[in-house]
Amino acid sequence: MTIVDDLLNILVLDVAFDVLADYKDGHGPPVKQKHGPNYKRLCPFHREKHPSFYIRPKRNRFVCYGCGENGGPLRLASLTLREDAPQYISEKLGKTISQELINEIAMEEDF
Ligand SMILES: [Zn+2]
Repeated sequence: MTIVDDLLNILVLDVAFDVLADYKDGHGPPVKQKHGPNYKRLCPFHREKHPSFYIRPKRNRFVCYGCGENGGPLRLASLTLREDAPQYISEKLGKTISQELINEIAMEEDF
């Protein structure tokens, strides 16, 4: 397993549970509100009254139908934790991960 493989195996649901439940800019219910196979909550990236932010564990992705923000676990970590993302991910993997590597893979997650 390479570091890249390890990074790609991080689960969006783990990141969401770790980060979004207390995410300061998140307005509304915790991420654990189940919606079929997915989870939904108010979006942490834009203001809204009805939840349009979904965590999709099977696809390992998140998407907001309100603002269009979407991606995988690394993108979610980068957007929410910003400069703390490398430390968070490094602790999760037990390996030191650079911001550059996270950015590189988070960009590729968009496709
Ligand atoms: Zn949004």
